[in-house]
Amino acid sequence: MAETERKNPGDEDVSGTKQTGEDICPTCNGSGEIGHKACPDCGGSGRITVIVGDA
Ligand SMILES: [Zn+2]
Repeated sequence: MAETERKNPGDEDVSGTKQTGEDICPTCNGSGEIGHKACPDCGGSGRITVIVGDA
């Protein structure tokens, strides 16, 4: 499983990076798909990684 650094187009940063969190993908509203195809922004997960950045 070397998928930890995988980054989807809708992600602001790589998952697991400091000061990031998961959020509902605004493109598909968390459904993970657009129409009957996987959402290109979140890769079908329905969630994106966003930078929280509270520093
Ligand atoms: Zn999406």
